[in-house]
This record gives sequence, structure tokens and C-alpha cells, in this order.
Amino acid sequence: MSELNVVSISEAQIPSEAFVARHLIDGSWQASADGATFERISPSHGSVVTLASKGSARDVDAAISAARLAFDKGRWSRTSGKERATLLLKVADLIDRERDRIALMETLESGKPISQAKAEIEGAADIWRYAASLARTLHGESYNSLGNDFLGLVLKEPIGVVSIITPWNFPFLIVTQKLPFALAAGCTAVIKPSEMTPATTVILGELLLEAGLPAGVVNIVLGCGDPVGAAMTTDKRVDMVTFTGSTAVGKAIVSAASGSLKKVSLELGGKNPQVIFPDADLDSAVDAVVFGVYFNAGECCNSGSRIIVHEDIAEEFTRRTVALSRQVPFGDPLDPSTKVGAIITPEHQNKIDRYVQEAAQSGASIELGGEALAVPGLKGQFYQPTVVSNVRSNMPIARDEVFGPVLSVLTFKTLDEAIELVNDADYGLSAGVWSENVHTCLEFARQAQAGTVWTNTWMDGFSELPFGGVKESGQGRELGKYGLEEFLEAKTVTMRIGRSRA
Ligand code: NAD
Repeated sequence: MSELNVVSISEAQIPSEAFVARHLIDGSWQASADGATFERISPSHGSVVTLASKGSARDVDAAISAARLAFDKGRWSRTSGKERATLLLKVADLIDRERDRIALMETLESGKPISQAKAEIEGAADIWRYAASLARTLHGESYNSLGNDFLGLVLKEPIGVVSIITPWNFPFLIVTQKLPFALAAGCTAVIKPSEMTPATTVILGELLLEAGLPAGVVNIVLGCGDPVGAAMTTDKRVDMVTFTGSTAVGKAIVSAASGSLKKVSLELGGKNPQVIFPDADLDSAVDAVVFGVYFNAGECCNSGSRIIVHEDIAEEFTRRTVALSRQVPFGDPLDPSTKVGAIITPEHQNKIDRYVQEAAQSGASIELGGEALAVPGLKGQFYQPTVVSNVRSNMPIARDEVFGPVLSVLTFKTLDEAIELVNDADYGLSAGVWSENVHTCLEFARQAQAGTVWTNTWMDGFSELPFGGVKESGQGRELGKYGLEEFLEAKTVTMRIGRSRA
């Protein structure tokens, strides 16, 4: 423990009373039909930070009825792009105003560092603004090339009622990668945040009402995957499910939604490789690798946790990565200097540890960390920044999403071997390459089976650029103009404009 940079506690910022979170149904805040509630205990400080209504199928039924009615009555779908954009821009301003409050609740519920939560909320406001620009430019197509007698129109219409189901690791960002695009398209929605992190989605609901969104357009139901999420995926009145979470639950959602043949878009897990060539700028690569694996304590779909380094520089790379990992401020997420916070639950912490111990037993070497660590004065769970070398591609630590602050280091000799290792994975979310040779980078970018490739950088994201996975990392895209297209249906209108068929 003494070899890590552990930061001290700052409990003064914790609100004295738990945040009370209720369902938002048809424009009003409601307790569960059966009165059930649940508590969220902070994973870092051990106190109850949220007291939430616990939804059942009855609450989902009411929320879907409201969303369906709002859509069918055209309360939102028949508004102009200008009206939609004006509201989305207002929401962005309100998010800026409430940034510190949202970030604090996100940190208390998830255990992530407050500095990272604030950056996430700032990024989210930008996405709302970007989606507003799409609302203003949304348009269909016309075809006047169909001969003299016909004109073809392709209308882009909102898909309808959308179920939005989100995970706990970036609760505010992920709902933001979906909702403003659905609203820009003219859809209505029912949202279920993770039962671990309900508060920030509820705050978003407050801001939507303050911005003047009509009742029923956005509804929020709190509670567990079963029954709340399950009811949101099977109900026939829902036209589309957009889900971010684990691959296992994503597969269950596809099969549940198939009963009514709804559209499903999925943002799932990843096991993201970064390949480091001998000609790479090693200072930048080590910096980015350390950031990419410990960001959000590694509880990140984009965690750059699978390093594939050329054997000529493997020793130096590992030595420098371990040295820098020791310096990463680790501990109380409320301290502004902290870079690695708490682990979401004790069960998850045990799972992380199992991967590390199993790798060690199979011949891998633990270069740093490799165990849980109690942070003085805090009642939550923490796992040490961990570097594991001599990892082979067939080990579970190299194949599964560990979802913790754990770096696996593998080695390669040739570009072909590196690509083979990169693509030897069930996942295909993102991949990275470090080389000063642009041809190497381009060759890598073309061959890597991934939705995103970073060259000489890691995890930079922009509202303009689409994000999503291939293989078992998902289907569909978020952000960019592609993020809007997901929520649109093309309707063909064929107009006969000639006088007669003869
Ligand atoms: P999870 O799959 O356990 O839960 C996600 C959501 O689904 C939660 O709201 C949960 O209550 C709900 N759910 C659970 N069972 C359900 C069911 N049967 N029907 C409907 N809903 C159900 O995931 P998690 O542990 O919250 O999040 C971590 C996972 O999310 C990781 O695998 C991570 O990679 C993934 N993730 C992916 C991205 C991406 O953009 N690709 C982003 C963030 C997280």
C-alpha cells in the first residue's frame, strides 16, 4: 500500500440527507404503485446517498401508456425542428447550471473521481447542444429522377416510443448519448437508469420539466432489470429499445424484444487492445495507457486494458508503466486530485480479484497491485492499480471484460501477429495503435475489428463522431449524425403527377 499514491478523505461534501428519487410518469413525480423503495449506498463512503422508488410492471405500464399517448397525439413528434432545438439548448444550459450537483450525485453513487464526473457532465452538455443542431437540419429526400410521371419522397419520421436502458458506469453521459437524439428525431421515451445510479437521471428529468418538455414525452422508471427493464423490452407499445450494458444482458434483450420485432440498438462490453510498436513515442504511449486503464477505475467499456507491446520494448514499457501507475492518485473520489476511485460493489471487487489471481496461477506475473486495499477513513471498496505481464491471449484476464483497474500486457513480434492478437476476441469496441509510421497506423486501422480505432491517442471522443461496436460489442451507433438516424424510420411517398397511365 505504501508504494501507491493514496489520497485523504473529504466527507464534508456528502449531503446530510439521502437524495429522494421517484418515477417521472406523464409529467409528475410518483412513488411506486406498490410503495416499494430501495437504497443506494455509496461505494466509497458507505452511507445511504439515494432513497429511490422501486418500480414494478405496473409503473412501467403507466409510463409506456404516457409515452405512447404523447407520441400518438403528436405532442412532440409534430413539433418543428426549431422548437425541438430550442428545448435541447435550454436543457444544455440547465445542465451547465447544475453541473456540480449532478457530478456530486454521480460520484456518490458510482464512486468515480469528482473531477472525472465534472468532465463527464460538461461533455454531456455539449452533446445536447450538438443534438440540437441535428434537430434543425433533419430532412428527408426527394427523387425527381423517376420519369416524367412520378415524384418520390422519402420522409424521415420518428420511430415512436423508445425504451432507454442504461448502466451505472457513466449514467449521465450514456443517457445523453441516446435521449437528445431520440428527442431531436421526435420520439417519446421511457428511461430506466441502473439501480446503482438512479439520481442523475432523475435530476435530468427535473431539468427537462423546467425546460418546458410536454408531459409524457420523457418518463423515468427506477428499479431493477427484472421487472422494470424486462417490461420495457417486451411491451408491444414500445417501438425500439436502446440499451447500454453488459453483453449478457444485451443478448437477453434481443431475444425478449424479438417477440414483437422491435428495433434494438446495443452498446455492450469491450476488451480493448492497444498495440505499441518499437517506433512509438513511448512517453505519450505510457501516459495514455495509464490514463486509459485507470480512468473510471477501469469500469469503462473503453478501458484500454489489453496492451500488446513489441517484444523489443516490452521490458522498458512495463517498467515505465508500473512506475507511472504508482503515482496515480488513488482513493477518496471526492478529493479533486483523485484519479482512481472506488469499485461499484464488493461482489464486483471480488470478481476483479479472481481474474488477477487466476492469471497469476496460470503463469502471469503481477508487476504491481493485485489486491483490494482499504483506504483510511473510508467505508467503501477499492482495488489497487494493477499491472499484470506475461499474459497469454487464451487467459480469461486477456479475453473477458475485467472492468477494474487492471492492465494485461501481452507481446508480439510482427504486425501480422499483432493484428491476429487484436482480432482474437469476442468483442470489437475500440482498438489503438502507437507508431510514428503513418502507414503502420493506417494498416492497423483498416485491419482491426473494432467500431473505433485510435492512433497515437486513446479515448478521445467528439459529439460529431459515431461510437459503437462490432462483434459482441453491439449493434448500431450513437453520436454524430448516425446517432440521430437510429431513431428515424424512412417512409416512402410515391406521387403520381402525370395525367394518366396510358
Ligand atoms: P448490466 O447489463 O448489468 O445492466 C445494464 C442495465 O440493464 C441496468 O439498468 C440493468 O438494471 C438493466 N437490466 C438488467 N437485466 C435486464 C433485463 N433482463 N432486461 C432489461 N434490462 C435489464 O450492465 P452494468 O453492470 O450496469 O454496466 C456495465 C456494462 O456496461 C459493461 O459490460 C460495460 O462494458 C457496458 N457498457 C458499454 C458501453 C458502450 O458504450 N459500449 C458504455 C458503458 C457501459
